[in-house]
Parts: sequence; structure tokens; C-alpha cells
Amino acid sequence: MDRISNPIKTKEIIDKYDFYFKKNFGQNFIIDQNVLKNIILSAEITKNDFVIEIGPGIGSLTQFLCENAKTVKAIEIDKKLIPILKNTLNEYDNLEIINGDALKIDFNDITEEPFKIVANLPYYITSPIIMSILENKLNVNSITVMVQKEVADRINAKPGTKDYGSLSVAVQFYCESVINFIVPPNCFMPKPKVDSAVITLKPKKNKIEVINESIMFKIIKCAFGQRRKTLLNSIYNQGGFGISKNDILLALSDIGVCPNARGEELTIEQFAALADRIYKIN
Ligand code: SAM
Repeated sequence: MDRISNPIKTKEIIDKYDFYFKKNFGQNFIIDQNVLKNIILSAEITKNDFVIEIGPGIGSLTQFLCENAKTVKAIEIDKKLIPILKNTLNEYDNLEIINGDALKIDFNDITEEPFKIVANLPYYITSPIIMSILENKLNVNSITVMVQKEVADRINAKPGTKDYGSLSVAVQFYCESVINFIVPPNCFMPKPKVDSAVITLKPKKNKIEVINESIMFKIIKCAFGQRRKTLLNSIYNQGGFGISKNDILLALSDIGVCPNARGEELTIEQFAALADRIYKIN
């Protein structure tokens, strides 16, 4: 990857525009050029790529994206950052800055082309934005995002571990995930309290088949809602499927899961198989 000749200097820009960081927007800007470069490498950005960036901030990552991708559309919620971005990045004609809330924008309205998502995500929208991109079955090639390390560990967790939960199962249902690298607090301004990680999610080539996704997600909710309870009891008491305990027991036995199993022991394939069994009883 080529070096950038005039990289954005965060501190200078913050001072020049007298910008105040807003905690409620999760504003921790990347100030380390190696981190920016490694995000571009992890996302495998090339001149063929259409990229949507969520939360460009003052544009440090956006600049690297503009240099390396074909087209960049960057969605920023903070009105105060829009003139700063427009001034700082005015030399790039492959960039469009959109002022808005990424949670409320339909990405299908931005482009019909397949796209990549690249972002240093504001921590407060991490799970909702990832889930909305996956559930809406957007035309996305990959998602490469900086998140709190603890969230990356949860996304990547395997069954039976303490980090394994509904976020792990939901993301792993749609995607393969890989943690690319860990980023310490001193790479940001202001410094966050915890480590971050850059994670890449790619839609699964061989998607897990399930007849009715909403039944599966209901079961997953039961499984992790009360982790101490057996899956049998959680589904019976909270599933709302209107089936007998014995039917659930048979369904569990059909997929090779013992009656005392807890939800956190099941793989995503087992959740899908269980959902199909329960669908058929209904
Ligand atoms: N990309 C910049 C960087 O890495 O230096 C800034 C990242 S900072 C962690 C998160 C950015 O997302 C901030 O600029 C913040 O204003 C913006 N943001 C917060 N909530 C947002 C939302 N709902 N939609 C779009 N942008 C949002």
C-alpha cells in the first residue's frame, strides 16, 4: 500500500476548528498511521471497491479509504464535523459525505453495487449496526470495524465459553469472523479506557439453512436470557411456542442434545436444527 504524502494531523485540525469531542457520539479518533494502514490492509481495499464508512470523524480513516478505494460514502451524525470533513478532504473527488444517523439510513439507498463497510465504530451503536446490516441482508462483501476488544471476543466466541452469547450466535449465523489485530488506548484521541480490536466479518459462502429464522432467534433469546436455566426449561417457559415439554425434549433428543443442556453449549448449527424441529411440531 502506498504511503500517504499529507496525512491528516488530528491535533492540528482539532485546534484549528476549536472542535470539542462528544462522548455521547463515541468520539475517539485514531491518531496512529500504522493502525489506519492496517485497517485498509485488513479490509483488503482495492481500487475496485465501493466503501461505506460509518462515522468518519475528522476524516483520518476516510483519507486512507479515498486513497485506496474507488468510491467512499461516509456517514457522519455530528453536524459540526461536516464542514471540517469537507475542507480537509476537498481534494478527493471519489468521496461523498452524508450527514445522518447510520442506524436510520437504508444502505440500499446509497448504492446498488456490492460494498464494503469500514469503520472505527462508535461503541454505543456497535451491536445494533452490525445486526441491522446482517439482518437486512444487504449487498455487503465484508465488514471491517474497530470495536471494543471485549465485543470482538464476544462476536468470535465458541460454544461453552463465557463470552459465547446471543451476539456470537447471531453474527456467526451469517458470517465468518476474524480478529485482525488489537489496538491499545494510546492510538486514539481522546484515549478510551479499554483496548479495541479490528474485526472482519464476511458473509458465509455456505449459509446455514433454517426454515424459519425468527423461530431460531426466539430460541437463541431464550437460551441466553437465563443462562443458568436448562434450555428445555427456558424454551418451555419463555419460548411462547405453545408446545409441550415432552415435544421440546424429543426435539432436543432428535438433534443429539441432552435434556440438561444449557443454551450456551449449542453450536449455531444445533440452534438451526432445533428451530427446524420446533417449526415442524408447530
Ligand atoms: N473514523 C474516525 C476515526 O477513526 O478517527 C472517528 C471514529 S469515532 C470512534 C466514531 C464517529 O462516529 C464519530 O465521528 C461520531 O460522531 C460518529 N457517529 C456516532 N454515532 C453515529 C451514528 N449513529 N451515525 C453516524 N455516525 C456516528
